[in-house]
Amino acid sequence: MLTPGDVLLARPAGSPISGAGPDPILHAGLQYRPSVADTHSMPQSTDNAVPASPEPPVGVSTRTHAGPWQEFAQRHLHDYNPAATRIWLLWASLGGLATAWSVWRLAQLPLDALVQIQLGLLMVGLAACFPVHIPRSKYSVGVADIFVFAMLILHGAPAATLAAGLEGLVACCRSSKRLSSRVLTPSAASATMLLCGVALEASRDHLLAAGGTLPVVNLALLCVLTLPYFTGTTLPLLAIVAAKTGRRLSLRQWVGDYAWMAAIYLVSAVVAGVLVMNTHQFGMAVVLVAAISIAGVVTLLKLSLNRHHAEHQAQESRIALAQLESVQNQQRFTAAFAHAAIGMAIVRPDGSIHQVNQALCSLLGCSDRELVGQAFVSLLCPGDAELFTRRNDSLHGVDAPAQSMELRCQGADGRDIWVSLHCGRFIDPADDRSGLIYQLHDISSRRQAEGELLHIAYHDTLTDLANRNCFTERLTVAVERTRLDASQRFVVMFLDLDRFKVVNDSLGHLAGNTLLREIAHRLLDVVRPGDLVARLGGDEFAVLLEHVHDPEDATALAHRLLGALSAPFAIHGAEVLPGASIGVTFSDLGYRTADEVLRDADLAMYAAKAGGRQRVALFDNSMLERIAERLKLEGELRRAIGEGQLSVAYQPLFQLEPHRLIGFEALARWVHPERGPISPAIFIGLAEESGLVEVLSAWVINEAVGQLARWHGEHPNMAHLRMNVNISGRDLANNVLVPHVRETLQRHQLPADRLTLEITETTLMGKLDVALAALHALREVGVKFSIDDFGTGYSSLAYLSTLPIDSLKIDRSFVIGMDLQPQNIEIVRAVLNLGNSLGKTVVAEGIETVEQLVTLKGLGVHVGQGYLLSRPLRADQIPALFHKAAALAL
Ligand code: C2E
Ligand code: CA
Ligand code: CA
Repeated sequence: MLTPGDVLLARPAGSPISGAGPDPILHAGLQYRPSVADTHSMPQSTDNAVPASPEPPVGVSTRTHAGPWQEFAQRHLHDYNPAATRIWLLWASLGGLATAWSVWRLAQLPLDALVQIQLGLLMVGLAACFPVHIPRSKYSVGVADIFVFAMLILHGAPAATLAAGLEGLVACCRSSKRLSSRVLTPSAASATMLLCGVALEASRDHLLAAGGTLPVVNLALLCVLTLPYFTGTTLPLLAIVAAKTGRRLSLRQWVGDYAWMAAIYLVSAVVAGVLVMNTHQFGMAVVLVAAISIAGVVTLLKLSLNRHHAEHQAQESRIALAQLESVQNQQRFTAAFAHAAIGMAIVRPDGSIHQVNQALCSLLGCSDRELVGQAFVSLLCPGDAELFTRRNDSLHGVDAPAQSMELRCQGADGRDIWVSLHCGRFIDPADDRSGLIYQLHDISSRRQAEGELLHIAYHDTLTDLANRNCFTERLTVAVERTRLDASQRFVVMFLDLDRFKVVNDSLGHLAGNTLLREIAHRLLDVVRPGDLVARLGGDEFAVLLEHVHDPEDATALAHRLLGALSAPFAIHGAEVLPGASIGVTFSDLGYRTADEVLRDADLAMYAAKAGGRQRVALFDNSMLERIAERLKLEGELRRAIGEGQLSVAYQPLFQLEPHRLIGFEALARWVHPERGPISPAIFIGLAEESGLVEVLSAWVINEAVGQLARWHGEHPNMAHLRMNVNISGRDLANNVLVPHVRETLQRHQLPADRLTLEITETTLMGKLDVALAALHALREVGVKFSIDDFGTGYSSLAYLSTLPIDSLKIDRSFVIGMDLQPQNIEIVRAVLNLGNSLGKTVVAEGIETVEQLVTLKGLGVHVGQGYLLSRPLRADQIPALFHKAAALAL
């Protein structure tokens, strides 16, 4: 059974053992028994923290020569004001007097009674040493008060006074180090108990006289006296608190805070009364039994409560640990959020920003104050904001999967910032609704690099125009669109430079590159903004026009492009006119693939070239037929070489002044069994394209050399005659040309200097790199060289002087044009001067009129050929010419 021993003694009865509570001063006081006084001036500290050198007390003199009382007060009552000091002094004095009187009274008792009293005091002291703390409360209760009350009945007021003082002292010593408390608490208990004891003894006689039985009277009086005892033990403490704080004593607060102490006193009194009743009946042994039982109960209770307390403590520390972990987690998360290198934002369900981290502020160039509260979507570029909203709307609820997207934010400086945005959801503990956490990673540099790579993948590095890939992809889309909707017309132009190779080879690759860039600029200047201009490779360009309403517009544009390219280009100090041929095709022809479109535009371009270059040709299906025709012809030419359908015509070459036959130019002829004669302009080109020209040249060389050797043999007076044979660019690159020429000359026994190989200026300059070796090798053999069609290419004159060339053949367009355009005469004169200065013979071809002949003679041209002098003749017609020549010579 619990006995509120502590309570009876030290008003802090059931004393709280922790400082927690609504009134720290009062609770601290309760904790340490009389500690109301102790701690009042140090509300934040406990008695254990009383400073070693306390400040002088209020109202106490600090004179140098203080008396013992002043010294005591200064040391132990330093935080007491005069009123509190007076109250303390009063109760300490009363306690001292009560104790002294009690001792004096007890001294008069017989020894056996004193022994019993000492035993009782021992029990009180022991009981006071072992209060039981009520788990999870700030109170502890003891059983000492039961013995105090029992001693009051069994041994009278003096013994109870000492017992109450002892219980107060023990309890107070356990909880307070301050002497002031250790004096006040037992004093208040002693004094009050003495008064209560005297009052009990006085009342008991009256009540017994009135007919009450002793046990009942004792019990009743004990119960009644608990009230004044409670008052006497708590009031001094509260009075000191009130004096120190200056606050009035409040009955309500007193009762409210300490009524439970009165209840425990009452229970202790009842237990003590019942115990005494039993002693009347069974003797003092009952006290001993009760003491042992109570000790046992208290011990068991203490053990049990201690175990509970330990468990509770362990649980508390687990909870505290978990709380600490939770707080640390929270702090870690906050730190991770705040210091993350990646931009982060916590966004409310309505899309407004709740929190941002520093990285996001840096990324956008804004402060967090500017960002918080804004709609997140307002940070995005308008186009991307729509995309973001659409994707976000499609994902609702906490279970919606996290999503990532790449979009652009608008920085504070207005620039677009590419970010990889990751959106995740979480339950916001603040309102239990789903919140959003956005992570933004700056990918601008990656995007830029990707953009550059993409640009490289789809653009020509030289001109920065679209490349073939890009063009084909756009064209494929256009083809598909037109297949779905024929009104979505497109037009493709295929553009090829006529003389790019000449420029490239004569002026160098750098000049060629510059020319291509210039051409790209001019093309871009002419086309409409949405049109695609691409460089397909080399000197080939293509233009894609989409959404074309009128085909006439496209044709007009093609002519404008041609016009733009027909103006001369100033390249590295030289003026060049590359010219271009454009093939055009239209989506109306019903294409299925981009390749088909390009093939037809290409064919149209070839048709433009074949039509005389520098023109626009529109594709029509007849071109396809012509291609088929051409392929067929190619096959026939292959057979013709083997089947003897080819022959050689010989156009005589004359010395003009005096007129004299000096040789021939061998010209290949093909008389098709069904088609009749086919122009060399057609079949030579065909042979060059199909790789047949080497065989053809070898055949012509053999025919012509053989023929001349025969003529030499048959007409010894014609031994001075020489033979010019045309060779193509492919021949110069062919390794078998030199051995073949050497072998042919040897076989026919013709001196090598009787053979002149003609190479057009364009071919020579276009193949200089490979031609040089062959030129020098043939020169070694003794063969001569002539540059054909001179004036149409871009010969480097400085270079020309170093080449093993014997003669220059002025292109016949200049000779024929002399009649109409006098500047052609100047050109002829310039070529003649050049030839003279370089030591090369100048030959005029295409002489058709007497005027031309007269002019050429007048200019000093020594050699010429042309229809006026003689058309190309069959070999069997030549002997007649010999006779005529011989006759003239005679
Ligand atoms: P080319 O080398 O300039 O040959 C001269 C061309 O001019 C010949 O045409 C000839 O018939 C023509 N011609 C000669 N005098 C006159 C004239 O007074 N007026 C006009 N209008 N033309 C004249 P052809 O025989 O039709 O040959 C054309 C081209 O075919 C030749 O031009 C040459 O480049 C090429 N060719 C002819 N035979 C061969 C050959 O065996 N091998 C190679 N590689 N090319 C050849
Ligand atoms: Ca020729
Ligand atoms: Ca010629």
